[in-house]
Amino acid sequence: MTPSHDVVLVGGGGAGLRAAIAIAETNPRLSIAVVSKVYPMRSHTVSAEGGSAGAIGADDSTDEHAYDTISGGDWLCDQDAVEAFVTEAPEELLRLERWGCPWNREADGRIAVRPFGGMKKKRTWFAADKTGFHMLHTLFQTSLKYASVVRYDEWFVTRLLVDDGRVQGVVAIDLQSGKIEAITARSVILCTGGCGKIFPFTTNASIKSGDGMALAYRAGAPLKDMEFLQYHPTGLPFTGILITEAARSEGGYLINKDGYRYLQDYALGTPQKEPVLRTMELGPRDRLSQAFMKELEKGRTIETPYGHVVHLDLRHLGEKKIDAKIPFVRELCRKYQNLDPVKDLIPVRPVLHYMMGGVHTDIDGATPLAGLYAAGEVACVSINGANRLGSNSLTELLVFGARAGKAAAEHASRNLEISQSVLGQARDEHRRIEQELLNKKGSERIADLREEMQKTMEESAGIYRTGASLMKAVDRLRSVQERYANVAIEDRSKAFNTERVSALELSNMLGVAETIVMSALRREESRGAHQRTDFPKRDDKRFLGHSLVHRNPDGSARVEYLPVTITRWPPAERIYGEAAPHGGSNKAPGSSLPS
Ligand SMILES: Cc1cc2nc3c(=O)[nH]c(=O)nc-3n(C[C@H](O)[C@H](O)[C@H](O)COP(=O)(O)OP(=O)(O)OC[C@H]3O[C@@H](n4cnc5c(N)ncnc54)[C@H](O)[C@@H]3O)c2cc1C
Repeated sequence: MTPSHDVVLVGGGGAGLRAAIAIAETNPRLSIAVVSKVYPMRSHTVSAEGGSAGAIGADDSTDEHAYDTISGGDWLCDQDAVEAFVTEAPEELLRLERWGCPWNREADGRIAVRPFGGMKKKRTWFAADKTGFHMLHTLFQTSLKYASVVRYDEWFVTRLLVDDGRVQGVVAIDLQSGKIEAITARSVILCTGGCGKIFPFTTNASIKSGDGMALAYRAGAPLKDMEFLQYHPTGLPFTGILITEAARSEGGYLINKDGYRYLQDYALGTPQKEPVLRTMELGPRDRLSQAFMKELEKGRTIETPYGHVVHLDLRHLGEKKIDAKIPFVRELCRKYQNLDPVKDLIPVRPVLHYMMGGVHTDIDGATPLAGLYAAGEVACVSINGANRLGSNSLTELLVFGARAGKAAAEHASRNLEISQSVLGQARDEHRRIEQELLNKKGSERIADLREEMQKTMEESAGIYRTGASLMKAVDRLRSVQERYANVAIEDRSKAFNTERVSALELSNMLGVAETIVMSALRREESRGAHQRTDFPKRDDKRFLGHSLVHRNPDGSARVEYLPVTITRWPPAERIYGEAAPHGGSNKAPGSSLPS
């Protein structure tokens, strides 16, 4: 019997579990499948450290959170989505507390909030520096309350089933037995996370291979703003392990080889004793990563066997504060870098961290393909625009996980039939996997192809890009694609065939890499995290729009544009440092619209 549910969730991370709870609450009669290629608690959400944003302080407002998000995103965010996001953020965070999330508190009992990059008020809720761990635990244990949630742990989804213009389920491999099965449903929500593994140096877990983006794209749903990838300024040089922004929000400095706080040279303000919001080390991530590249050009970085680095200096914070507020930073430095930040400098360099783009959805997580929804890092709603502010992502999982869950539940509650033809599609997929990935003798090694793809992306589509570098990437990726047709799979076993999974993930990453490069090539301007040295200025006349990449019937990519939704904050210059617009105004500098 083909397993059948009302809603299939692909992904058991923060977005997936929040959506599962929302579905169960919206319609308790619906049967919900959570399909995840790893046990849910191993999803990448578990590794988030710094915190989750939501305006709660007496001096803060949702309008200010909206303005910071929109200016941080270089005016590419859809402002209606941002308004919904900032309004629902504190409600979601409080709900999480009622479900058991142990937020840090002040001595007087109020929720503690910390400053975060690009935010002009303290609004990042945290549970020490293991926020994602606590959030995911809370969501996981809450999801266990609902008997209607059925889990398919360690099942890998390879295809969406589409008929009659509607998504009607998925095909997945049960990794334990090797069995390939269709799981039908009236709604499918993709919650598969990001795609950092397309790049060689990343904070992302190795499971982050953009599977959901590839699934949606192949099924005919467009991907949005794929050229916008975030580099986090502080990764450990060899492993790429993240040193959370919380280290800077607690007062850490970034210094170059001369011990100089170099960010003062990049229009990010002047050094102060205490951290100043939106200034210096608390500037936005795109600007900080770009400043590193400029320091590198000036010869002011430090060469190491694992690339050039600058230093993060926490020594002046003292042991007590480090142990109280960022204990995990100390633990990571000791274990992986063999140093103690209480007395040593931490070598850091920019590291690929987050995907702003993703599956194109509306404000309720719906894609243009009926029955298909997306939420979390795999989706582009878009609230992150051209550059996400740290700590907005965890909140996005909650707000848009819940919204997508509700919308998918309503769709699944309608009386829609599952077509018989999707079972035929599932048999085709079964044959394809057997033929291409179990019974074939190729000669190309997966690791070689993956390395070539990652090198191509770093060299051609990294922090700075040009038309020429991107054109080169198109050719190099095409050649890797051709070689992939001859990939070698030596492991013929069925149970936990990780080689087969790696091949499928590589195929997904190659598809997603192409969409990134094609979107980057079309956008002839510099905005947020997309910096074209051949077009160094933001160009609102031509490019105040979302790129949408569609797959043509012949498999090639086609890029179109969609206008950005502007509600109350017309495009303005991004200003950081002491000159940044502080205070309670919700108007953009130079705004002439009534608020
Ligand atoms: C080290 C690190 C620290 C971070 N810190 C912060 C922070 O402090 N604050 C913040 O706001 N953001 C932070 N982020 C970003 C944030 O954590 C992520 O964007 C977010 O957790 C993604 O959640 P998700 O639910 O979308 O996906 P994930 O948590 O990545 O979950 C994806 C799920 O999809 C499943 N899946 C994927 N492909 C398939 C497939 N083919 N078949 C079946 N299942 C599949 C996986 O098994 C998994 O369950 C951090 C990110 C990293 C990497």
